[in-house]
This record gives sequence, C-alpha cells and structure tokens, in this order.
Amino acid sequence: MRVAVVSDIHSNLAALEAVLAAIDADAPDELWCLGDLVGYGPRPNECCAAIAERAGVCLAGNHDLAVRGEIELEEFHGDAALAARWNRERLTPESQAILDALEPRGSAHGVALYHGSARDPVWEYVLSDEAAVATLALADSPLVLVGHSHVALRIVVSGDELDGGLAPAGTELELGGLRALLNPGSVGQPRDGDPRAAYLLLELEKQRAEFRRVEYDIARTQREMRDAGLPELLAARLELGQ
Ligand code: ZN
Repeated sequence: MRVAVVSDIHSNLAALEAVLAAIDADAPDELWCLGDLVGYGPRPNECCAAIAERAGVCLAGNHDLAVRGEIELEEFHGDAALAARWNRERLTPESQAILDALEPRGSAHGVALYHGSARDPVWEYVLSDEAAVATLALADSPLVLVGHSHVALRIVVSGDELDGGLAPAGTELELGGLRALLNPGSVGQPRDGDPRAAYLLLELEKQRAEFRRVEYDIARTQREMRDAGLPELLAARLELGQ
C-alpha cells in the first residue's frame, strides 16, 4: 500500500497540478489530504474539485472551516482574513458541499490524521518536541500525520529517544514500526525556506517514508493573485517559501 500525502494547498492550482503530475508518475494506491484546500490563493473551486476527485481521505483545515462559514473570519490575521473572505465569496455550491463534508481529524489504514494536532486538530501547530510528544501520546496509532504548519517535519520516537526536525527534499525514513509524527509540508504555501510544492510518499507495509518537492510555476499563481487583488504579501511570500 503506497500513499501520497498532501496538505495545505491553499487555492494554489499551479502547485497542486504540479504535485498531482508528480504523484501520477509514482502511481500510489491512494492520495490523502490533511486539509486547507482553500484560503490565501486564487483558485479555490478548482482545488476543491481536484482533491474531491482524487483523494481517498481528506481532512478540514482551519481555512476550510472559515471559508465554508463555520469559523468567524475575525479568528484570522489581516491578510489571511481578507483572502479567506475573497475565497468564501467565490465558492461555488459544489465546492461548499465538498468543504462541508470534511472533518479536521481522521484515520486510514491504522494511521492517525490531524490537520493541526491531536490536542487541537484545528489550530495547534506541531513545531516543538513537546507538541509532538503530546500528539503521539494522545493518538491511538504509532504513525501520525499532521499538516497546518506548512513545514515538512519528521519526528521519530525510539524508546525514550526522540529524533527529529525538518525534513528537506529527498529525506527518506525507515519507520520500522516506531512511533512517528510526519508533516508532508505544504503544497501551496511552503514556509520552510523551500518554495517548491511539498508532498510525502508513504509505503505502509515497508514502513518507509520519503519527502518530495516539486517545482511549479510560482509566477503563474502570483499573477493570478495580483489580478484578483489578493494581498501582495501573500503573493510575494510564495517565491521565498516563507
Ligand atoms: Zn494551511
């Protein structure tokens, strides 16, 4: 069973298309999405449709909940709120129905899935050892996948030892049944210094994971964002990967 895992697409269709093309070349058995299909970017409906068509499992992220009208936009900072409102105003009934069906936590094939964390699946960022240990303790599965931080991450626990940190492009892991928390990074708005779109390839029986990055046409998404009048800071950050 080979699974491609994506997260935090954020209405960036150019990035999603590049990742889906790379995933097609790997021909995994399933595609899982850890949430935040929309928000920030210019193409919410196309991203919802592509994920709904392809993903066997999909979670809701905080932006999905805001854009579908379940979280108040006041919960977001300036540019994020502006972009969430822009996304909400353009959401088709089909996309609304896709987002309405999503939950921020799930599981598949014995793997625990959270958009944020086990403590708070909607809002908590797992970016510290403490947060990772807490989520691994609460999850009823040795392997946990999270999104939300837009930082590709691997944390593996062996006995009392905790080994982990950033998972740059090409990072390969032998999980060997150990407790592990992995974040594939973000498709549509990476924040770990690598502006390329991120995804994760998992081989469940072989207990292997590989972190991948894919070049995409960043200028195309920036152009679409500027044409749409979305905040300039959100367009500019894409090429920085921050
Ligand atoms: Zn996100």
